[in-house]
Amino acid sequence: MSEQLQHKRHTLAHLLAAAGLQKYPEAKLTLGPAIDSGFYYDIDFEGDVVSDESLKEIQKSMKKLLNSWTEFTHKEVSKEEAISLFAGNQYKLELIEDISEKGEPITLYTCGGFTDLCRGGHCEHPNKEIDPDSFKLDKVAGAYWRGDEKNPMLTRIYGLAFESKEELSAYEAQIEEAKKRDHRKLGKELDLFTFSELVGSGLPLWTPKGAIMRHELDTFIWQLRSKHGYQRVTIPHITKKELYQTSGHWDKFADELFRITTREGKEYALKPMNCPHHTQIFDRTPHSYRDMPQRYAETTMVYRDEQSGELGGLTRVLSITQDDAHVFCRMSQVMEEFDRVWDIISTFYGTFGFDLRVRLSFHEPTQMEKYLGTKEVWEKAENMLRQIAQSHQADYFEAQGEAAMYGPKLDFMAKDSLGREHQVATIQLDMNLPERFDLSCINEKGQKERIVMIHCAIMGSIERFSAVLIEHLGGNFPLWLSPVQVAIIPVSEAHIEYAQNVYNTLTGVGIRASFDASNESMGKKIRQAKKDRLPYFIVIGDKEVEAKNVTLEARDGASEQMELSQLGNHLLAMIDAKVL
Ligand SMILES: [Zn+2]
Ligand SMILES: [Zn+2]
Repeated sequence: MSEQLQHKRHTLAHLLAAAGLQKYPEAKLTLGPAIDSGFYYDIDFEGDVVSDESLKEIQKSMKKLLNSWTEFTHKEVSKEEAISLFAGNQYKLELIEDISEKGEPITLYTCGGFTDLCRGGHCEHPNKEIDPDSFKLDKVAGAYWRGDEKNPMLTRIYGLAFESKEELSAYEAQIEEAKKRDHRKLGKELDLFTFSELVGSGLPLWTPKGAIMRHELDTFIWQLRSKHGYQRVTIPHITKKELYQTSGHWDKFADELFRITTREGKEYALKPMNCPHHTQIFDRTPHSYRDMPQRYAETTMVYRDEQSGELGGLTRVLSITQDDAHVFCRMSQVMEEFDRVWDIISTFYGTFGFDLRVRLSFHEPTQMEKYLGTKEVWEKAENMLRQIAQSHQADYFEAQGEAAMYGPKLDFMAKDSLGREHQVATIQLDMNLPERFDLSCINEKGQKERIVMIHCAIMGSIERFSAVLIEHLGGNFPLWLSPVQVAIIPVSEAHIEYAQNVYNTLTGVGIRASFDASNESMGKKIRQAKKDRLPYFIVIGDKEVEAKNVTLEARDGASEQMELSQLGNHLLAMIDAKVL
């Protein structure tokens, strides 16, 4: 967000507070920052409930007040002055205490006769800079003071604010569309996954249709990986504590680790990641430089104990399926290996029409003590990543300080069809685990050489990626990915035999067809096929039976007629090409 927009949004938070106080003079103000889509203010209304009706009234008075908000002024005050001004408001008093403890100046900002404790960052002339049609109040929610559930519950009033009325409308339209495409709603309608109270929240159960979708995605990734020399490995889902003590995850994942104590009192854990296990496969035998790199891939679940309040749909789950891979290689091979993964990522995301942007997450040169490895190694590695980004003519930017402590990374961001950006794949260089597990190869001179690891999941989490993909496509999966690819719909009894023949022809070549021989009307069956967002359906009537042909009708309304003998190959060619 631009600084100007940020100032505008924060100014509107002040305006909201002023208008709120007009209606509820006893209310206690707390904090009101700018956020991504606008602003909010947390207010203690002391039991008063802010209805939709009152929200409208407050919005109306905000617009009225705006006319008189001509200029912001500010002054620094002593702690005593501030305390007397906000006497009776325990929240502001707490803030004043914090500010003075940090030794920072206490400042008051005033506009249109309304004064608030604030650090600044406003429009200088709100009435001139803010279009009254470019903002509106959105909704009311509860929020604990300072996010701590031990504190009192406040009322948070959210507002939307953009540069112009048009941008505000565009944002609202996007939110409306996003609601229709919500993966939780579509996942249910398309019967892809479900949750059971008995199994627990955050533990999605994949239905037969959902399992097909996952399998197709994973098979595609595997096809791409196998071209680049990846090999499959398989590991157990639990491990002794000692593995994670060596890797450092016992401490790092302390809160998120599902722990198991055996009947003999031994401590195990469910894996929160796969890398430590994979190091032990690499380390099963000494490696010559001629064996390098070793590329291990495995699609498997990891488990992280998230707080139940944070679970929702497929985006926050306890059981996460990773299409994980680790490359064990020499430092001199890093560039080529990153390049290979980049190819896989751009092919995969390109297939779905995502636009990718890449963040080169680099170290912060002034804080070398935060990182493992020497400055020279980091600079060399980062230069390689930069060269790769340039050679792919990628839309990239560099972010200093975003690296992991153990190495720089490439973070890919995908823009979906609604213009929202999601962080998806990452490729990470890791100089830490090989050190901790003493991983090496024997180089040309017969010496032990420390190797590095590359972590490279393509989808990352299949659950999260599925959520992004379902919403990006609005549930309209391409033919190759669709759990049911073609519906065969006979018009009446007389057409069942030929329809069965068409069905057998398709399933015989591995196409996922459905055959609806029920007594429902043809119109209803077609509506159902469209509701299920099937890529194609074929209606079989007198004409088709007589001519021994079929008319393939697409969900977008296009249709083409062909001989039954051509149908299978026609569809297989589109499946093979992964036509979107
Ligand atoms: Zn302010
Ligand atoms: Zn890893």
